[in-house]
Amino acid sequence: MAVSGGRPGLSRTRARTRIPVALVVLPMRSRREDAVRRAVSSEVAAADAVPEVSEVPTMADPAWRAGAVDDELMALYPDAACALEHDGPFQLLVATVLSAQTTDARVNTVTPELFERYPDAAALGAARREDLEAILRPLGFQRAKAGHLLGIGQALDERFGGRVPRSREELVSLPGVGRKTANVVLGNAFGQPAITVDTHVGRLSRRLGWTTSKDPVRVEKDIASLWEPWRWTDGCHRLIEHGRRVCSARSPRCGECALLEAGLCPQVGI
Ligand code: SF4
Repeated sequence: MAVSGGRPGLSRTRARTRIPVALVVLPMRSRREDAVRRAVSSEVAAADAVPEVSEVPTMADPAWRAGAVDDELMALYPDAACALEHDGPFQLLVATVLSAQTTDARVNTVTPELFERYPDAAALGAARREDLEAILRPLGFQRAKAGHLLGIGQALDERFGGRVPRSREELVSLPGVGRKTANVVLGNAFGQPAITVDTHVGRLSRRLGWTTSKDPVRVEKDIASLWEPWRWTDGCHRLIEHGRRVCSARSPRCGECALLEAGLCPQVGI
């Protein structure tokens, strides 16, 4: 947080000459630190340089600020990842469908037995509904969820050769699979950059001033306009982690928040 972006007035001019040696040999640092250092460097050298329009980002640039938020969160939660325990696309798809209206932790309590008894699409599609409902009962909505799993197992088996499809269009054609679930699978099982807008991501995006919308698709687009794709999948995990630990829905702990300390959160609606 040392070089928090509290420098809204950083110059947009940039010197091509006299690059300080220290900037070249410094050890590894975050992208934001690099950006701030470049901006400060340009201020120092401006007197000898021919001013020119530059891409050097500043705190006033929403995209730069959003990237800086992600850099902060990366330092805070370097291991942030999908909380649903799974092995491969099939298990992640099933676990994500089950996570509707409940917590990832609770899903993780039922999936070991579920995956042991139904290890693939064919087995799941041929399951007895009452057996599935009994396993899923701790999650609530077991009748609907059992129906979704049966439908997914049968659809994967009949239409996709037992494999999970890799396109959003095909994924959302499966029972119980919406855009959010599809994005979770694309991002975490197939490595395709995808933004997952859950309750935490939506709430933080609004408080950070990235969006004014409560529509997940709109929020997804607004985040996509601010973050480069390489941030999308894991950046959402980091937002979720921050939402769980610090920026909760009812009592955000702004006084302890690194994003406030770094001057990166306008606390919209707080
Ligand atoms: S400063 Fe407050 S509102 Fe902003 S991210 Fe931190 S906890 Fe949330």
